[in-house]
Amino acid sequence: MIGEQFFREEHFIFQRTARRFVEQELMPNREEWEALGTVPREVWLKAGASGLLCCDMPEEYGGAGGDYLHHVVLAQEMARAGGGAPAFSGHSETAAPYILNYGTAAQKAEWLPKAISGEAIIAIAMTEPHAGSDLQAIRTSARRDGDDYVIKGQKVYISNAQQAHLVIVACKTDPSQGAKGISLFLVETNQPGFVRGKMLKKIGRKAQDTLELFFDDVRVPASNLLGQEEGQGFYQLMGVLVQERLSSAIRSVSAMQIALDDTTNFVKEREAFGKPIAAFQNTQFELADLWSMYLAHKVFIEWCIGKHVEGKLTSIEAAAAKLRASECEGIVIDRSLQFFGGMGYMWETPIARAYADARVNRISAGSNHILKLLIGRELVK
Ligand SMILES: Cc1cc2nc3c(=O)[nH]c(=O)nc-3n(C[C@H](O)[C@H](O)[C@H](O)COP(=O)(O)OP(=O)(O)OC[C@H]3O[C@@H](n4cnc5c(N)ncnc54)[C@H](O)[C@@H]3O)c2cc1C
Repeated sequence: MIGEQFFREEHFIFQRTARRFVEQELMPNREEWEALGTVPREVWLKAGASGLLCCDMPEEYGGAGGDYLHHVVLAQEMARAGGGAPAFSGHSETAAPYILNYGTAAQKAEWLPKAISGEAIIAIAMTEPHAGSDLQAIRTSARRDGDDYVIKGQKVYISNAQQAHLVIVACKTDPSQGAKGISLFLVETNQPGFVRGKMLKKIGRKAQDTLELFFDDVRVPASNLLGQEEGQGFYQLMGVLVQERLSSAIRSVSAMQIALDDTTNFVKEREAFGKPIAAFQNTQFELADLWSMYLAHKVFIEWCIGKHVEGKLTSIEAAAAKLRASECEGIVIDRSLQFFGGMGYMWETPIARAYADARVNRISAGSNHILKLLIGRELVK
């Protein structure tokens, strides 16, 4: 397993729980959920009851008091189910940490226990139809009106938004300021003016709902501003990115490992020209090439995990981890798929799903072009 050298007894126990959950609750239902475009609400509650949501949240909020290594374990077990399973990581690792890291005491007390139990699903909404990478260009606005803010605008590609009870929304509170004019707001999805658009049809991760959202003068109390000060949104968003990018890289390396295992098993069984495909030198050379690429990335990612556990992983190291791992994931899965021939193009074959699911990892959590920009800028400064 990736990062196994850092695990303690509690992580192996957690792994058994996660594996059982994936095998019993997720794997048998993938096709049905892919057709549905989302997963039933009960799955989140069951995951909460099994301690799989927000697994590193402090005990004072009802969490198991785990650490980042619990996320590392879970990412690998969830990789077996791929995009036919819910996007727990978007809730647990991307959205909820904003409240833990930057929320007021009241915001934490209200939302974290529900996030841990699965009673509340939390989404994060930054991207807009005309502004994704260039976050400073967002137009959704939050205007102060007495004791409230009034939110107006539109978001797109928002994960888990179909069932979310709370959306953390990036808004402009001061359009005259760039990054300093952005603030994050906690918006409950039962508010008048909050409108869900259609579920978007994706090429992969088909059971993970992704939506457009509209905010038509949604009124929220001023106490729903994340933290206590306006203008902190951009910095809050940047603060969560190191872990988000490292976790994305772990998912990519896990997917490579699963693809290589599947491929190795397949080539030993499938025959052509009177012998197993594994017997051809081309097969062995290809597998050697792909496996050594995977291994180099696994070791790099484990180095990153070690640094992150010590709180020392830098933003460009995390960007490099996500950039390299997602690019390599694309290569390994594509070249693995080739061994399956026509079967590799059929949705029921796991490698076909892996191929489609992997593509977004080069786009989300900072598109790879943007990551190169960030790393390059830092290198020459
Ligand atoms: C399945 C899925 C789930 C998502 N979930 C969420 C979510 O939950 N919440 C959320 O807020 N967003 C979410 N997103 C949005 C995602 O974060 C954005 O798609 C991503 O940040 C890129 O933004 P964009 O699509 O607007 O592309 P753009 O920013 O328009 O970029 C288009 C292309 O131009 C390149 N580019 C842009 N600027 C530069 C530059 N300066 N130099 C070089 N190249 C550049 C980009 O790399 C990209 O290739 C999700 C997206 C997908 C596909």
